[in-house]
Amino acid sequence: MNLAGFVPLSLCDYPGRVAAVVFTQGCNFRCPFCHNGHLLSLVPDPATRVDEERVLAVLAERKNRLGGVVVSGGEPTAQTDLPHFLRRLKALGLAVKLDTNGSRPNVLHALLAERLLDYIAMDIKAPWDKYATLAGVACDVAAVQASMELIAASGVPHLFRTTRVDPLLTASDYTGLKTQIPKASPHVWQPFRAAFSRDPALRPASAINARAPAQSESPFSGKVAVDSLPPL
Ligand code: SF4
Repeated sequence: MNLAGFVPLSLCDYPGRVAAVVFTQGCNFRCPFCHNGHLLSLVPDPATRVDEERVLAVLAERKNRLGGVVVSGGEPTAQTDLPHFLRRLKALGLAVKLDTNGSRPNVLHALLAERLLDYIAMDIKAPWDKYATLAGVACDVAAVQASMELIAASGVPHLFRTTRVDPLLTASDYTGLKTQIPKASPHVWQPFRAAFSRDPALRPASAINARAPAQSESPFSGKVAVDSLPPL
C-alpha cells in the first residue's frame, strides 16, 4: 500500500468508534476544495511515505484499545492491493471504515462481496450536472452513481457527505443535491475548511446558502492528514 499518513487515535472519523486513520497516497479527482492536496499525486513521496508494516504493527499492538480503522485518502480504491490490506486489518479483529469518492464501483463491489467493509462514507460532491467542476476532472458520473446505489443497497452502515463550498455550489445546488441521495441513506454536510484548500478563492457556504438545506453538519468531518507515524 502506498500510505502517506497515519493517525493512531481519532474520536471523530469513525462514527461511534475509537479508531486509527490510515491515509492512502493518490487520488484520481482534483476537487478544488480538497484539504489533503499533498495526498493527490499517485507518485509516492519518500519524505512522507508511511511504511505499511509499521502501521500494521502499531495496530496489532493497540487492537484491544481500538474499535476500528478508517482507510481514507487520497482515494483508497486507487490502490491495487487495497483488498489485501483490508484483509490484514480484519485479521486483527478491527472494524474497517472506507472513505471513498465512489469513482470505482467495481472495486467497491468486490470489497462488499468479500465483507471487508463495516462502514462506508462516500462523497456526493455536487448535483450530477456540475460533478466535473466539483471533482476537478472530467469524471465518470455514471460510475459515481453506481457506487452510490451499490452502497445504499448494501446493508452496510454508511453515509453520504457533501462539502458546502461557495461559490462552486449555490443555494439551489444544495437543495437539488438532496434529491439525488437515496431516501433511506443518511446524508451530512461538511464545512469547507479554507485554511487547507487547494483553491484560496473558495470560501465556506454563506449564511444564506448554509441555511438552504435543513440538515445538520456532520460531526465526522474535517480530517486532515497532518500526522505521521509516531515513535514506537
Ligand atoms: S477531496 Fe477527496 S476525492 Fe477530492 S481530490 Fe481530495 S482526496 Fe480526492
